[in-house]
Amino acid sequence: VFANIVQAPEDPILGVTVAYNKDPSPVKLNLGVGAYRTEEGKPLVLNVVRRAEQLIINDQSRVKEYLPITGMADFNKLSAKLIFGTDSPAIQENRIATVQCLSGTGSLRVGAEFLVKHYHNRTIYIPQPTWGNHPKVFTMAGLSVKSYRYYDPATRGLNFQGLLEDLGSAPSGAIVLLHACAHNPTGVDPTTEQWEHIRQLVRSKGLLPFFDSAYQGFASGSLDTDAQSVRMFVADGGECLAAQSYAKNMGLYGERVGALSIVCRTADVATRVESQLKLVIRPMYSNPPIHGASIVATIFKDRDMYTEWTIELKAMADRIISMRQQLFDALRARGTPGDWSHIVKQIGMFTFTGLNTEQVASMTKEYHIYMTSDGRISMAGLSSRTVPHLADAIHAAVTR
Ligand code: PMP
Repeated sequence: VFANIVQAPEDPILGVTVAYNKDPSPVKLNLGVGAYRTEEGKPLVLNVVRRAEQLIINDQSRVKEYLPITGMADFNKLSAKLIFGTDSPAIQENRIATVQCLSGTGSLRVGAEFLVKHYHNRTIYIPQPTWGNHPKVFTMAGLSVKSYRYYDPATRGLNFQGLLEDLGSAPSGAIVLLHACAHNPTGVDPTTEQWEHIRQLVRSKGLLPFFDSAYQGFASGSLDTDAQSVRMFVADGGECLAAQSYAKNMGLYGERVGALSIVCRTADVATRVESQLKLVIRPMYSNPPIHGASIVATIFKDRDMYTEWTIELKAMADRIISMRQQLFDALRARGTPGDWSHIVKQIGMFTFTGLNTEQVASMTKEYHIYMTSDGRISMAGLSSRTVPHLADAIHAAVTR
């Protein structure tokens, strides 16, 4: 009965690693992966995560019973504090429903499923471009996906005018997806003043903001700075959704730990929203896994471990920022034509180089450097040792 099934294409992002793995070259370089690498090119398990896991394993009282449908209560409370701020009035007023979900992707999906069932408008506006999985997650949940202008290839910065025009002409009530910080794939974020403009527009038109926060602390190195956009929207008392991921900022990629929060106007509404979130989650995966959430909760509850986490997190962010500078310097040293200042201006894990599909293909063919065809490179995949190789490849690609 399945004989006529056609072969599906590789995922455009994960497919980069598949191609990389097949390349026998010793100089090959994978800049497609959205995962942190050390200066030695190795995956990193944070020391504080190892410490927390040790405590968890040694705790004989721990059992492996099911968590509630909404996940671990402590984890949810602490996750809300992390993104909304410890003294957030919305938390104190109990008007946020937070549920533990399967990392950022699962949080986005649960949020989308909830909106399809309980929100009056089924159109979501996503930035152009955005993380490749966004349109798929929202479409599969039953939302209708439209885009708003975000990136300006000419300046390799924000197309702020285009963004305001497109959101300004969106129908009232539409949902708007906003990257909380470190926009993927462009690395371009609005300034605080621009965020304030966006907030006013979103509120005046009655749009519903849905924040995707996959890089809190990973962008600037400060957890508070990277949550500023979200907190501005919560401070005005209006509703919003936020999907959090601990994949990057705690290096818990494969543990699939994240949270969805829905900020409501009153505690009573939040209670009802949470009851409905349970009905969304139960038939999907029943309840979330324990281990990753235990790690996060253990770290958050211990002052010393929390501090260690912030230090390790800042070290990851700083290494990425340093890679930006080194790549920029290497291109300048080679006299590579073009203005490469966007490499140091952009923020987060990725640089949107501006290289086109043909240039990317030539870099893969001649230099064994792998990246997505839109020219996005993961700065986390670079090291001082590999920067010259990348700079040579970029130089060759733009001077061909
Ligand atoms: N949103 C964005 C913008 C991302 O870049 C990612 C990870 N690449 C995610 C969400 C989700 O990641 P995860 O499901 O691993 O938390």
